Amino acid sequence: MNVLFIASEMEPYAKSGGLADVVAALPKALKSLGVKVKVVIPLYSSIKYDRYSLKKIMPGACVHMGICEEWYDVHHTNVPHGVDVYFVEFQKYFNRPGYYHDSGGEYKDSAFRFSFLSRAAMQIAKDLKFKPDIVHLHDWQTAIAAYYIKKRYDPFFSGTKSFLTLHNVGYQGVYDRIALRYAMIDEWDFTPDTFEAFGHINLLKGGISFADKITTVSPTYAEEILGHVGANGLHVYINRRRNDLHGILNGVDTSIWNPETDDYIPARFNAKGYKKGKKLNKAALQKNFNLTVTPDVPIFAFIGRFAEQKGLHLLQPIIRPILNDMICQFIVLGSGDPSLERFFGELPAFSPGNAGSYIGYNENLAHLIEAGSDFFVMPSIYEPCGLNQMYSHIYGTLPVVRSIGGLNDTVEQYNEKNGDGNGFKFNDISSSALYYTIGWAVSTYYDRKTHIRKMIKNAMARDYSWEKSAEKYLSLYKM
Ligand code: ADP
Repeated sequence: MNVLFIASEMEPYAKSGGLADVVAALPKALKSLGVKVKVVIPLYSSIKYDRYSLKKIMPGACVHMGICEEWYDVHHTNVPHGVDVYFVEFQKYFNRPGYYHDSGGEYKDSAFRFSFLSRAAMQIAKDLKFKPDIVHLHDWQTAIAAYYIKKRYDPFFSGTKSFLTLHNVGYQGVYDRIALRYAMIDEWDFTPDTFEAFGHINLLKGGISFADKITTVSPTYAEEILGHVGANGLHVYINRRRNDLHGILNGVDTSIWNPETDDYIPARFNAKGYKKGKKLNKAALQKNFNLTVTPDVPIFAFIGRFAEQKGLHLLQPIIRPILNDMICQFIVLGSGDPSLERFFGELPAFSPGNAGSYIGYNENLAHLIEAGSDFFVMPSIYEPCGLNQMYSHIYGTLPVVRSIGGLNDTVEQYNEKNGDGNGFKFNDISSSALYYTIGWAVSTYYDRKTHIRKMIKNAMARDYSWEKSAEKYLSLYKM
């Protein structure tokens, strides 16, 4: 089985979200199942060329885009994942400060940029004589390759099927129709059933109509995107493909997120001896954030983008009442919306010793927070899969989540009668639902300690390895 991945991001070369993690971890896991995988991504100017031992292997490769001839160079490495990764060097499109936008706003020519990437990736496979059984595409950026495969522009791909994974239907790649000719979308395929949306090109919509199979990153999200709200307007088109739609939960890269081997935390631990390890990490975390150092007060944490999707606006109005009303500590790590950055940045001054925050991106701190906290808060409005609730389970930290998307699939509700479950869930998009659920977690922490211990054991026993997910992808590839 030969599989070609075409994507706009791959960890560690270029990452803005969970998509990059999947594009790194899934090929690695597929390879260990005997699949031959090659990945193509852009050579962004920010990629550290020497750190990953890239080598130029194809100078002066060429594809036709509409009436243009585009010449590019191809670079290769298999560091650090052991997977063949090919980088498309094309200065005009990828030598920029950002992937999709910079301080001046969104790049308006991304339909040009990523249709080129998709065609170039297919050409690379052809030049390498790598005939893919499957071309696996990711989100709006590379969805258009499903169209190229379906149109059979090139007999080399006559036996190839396309797979489109939807990591986040909230972003669809909507651009001016001026790109039609360059992107090689025929006028008669520019219809409301395929690429057209209110006179513009919607790249994701086109991909959804032409892909042979569609997957998304959790079973619940697969159901949610059949509805108007979850699909962000594409529900009619996704419903047409419901027989080809499958939800497969992402795994976790346990070479990075594993409390037994984690280099970022002061005390390593496993499920057996978690109490001592978590206690030491908790003290280190409290010191780091200038909180009162005590093992007896529960720490709640949030890590993530300060974006509407993550539901921080539900937490904002209640976090001060929580710190006033409940005996607990709160830590927030993240960045994004400037007004939320200001608010959470000032939180430690509001409640010295009980509140900590770090505005920015910090991988080391993210590990320490997962290891040292008692509860992890994710009040997301929507969450295709979500990673932090899974990291939390692995690190014996109990998630407090809204029951949607991947959060619903991974977090099992606490049962107050017997201590079953591995977290706390609520449904309503409301600050009061979040307030009372955090209150429930606090009272459980103080009043039902045996239940907390049982839930931590349940959480740490879960298997989030990529092997399980990769097997599911492989069986779909074979269908
Ligand atoms: P999304 O892809 O929607 O942002 P996910 O939960 O799928 O959300 O993945 C986000 C990843 O980025 C997680 O690994 C999370 O820990 C990490 N992350 C987000 N913000 C920060 C931050 N400020 N510092 C460190 N890690 C962060």
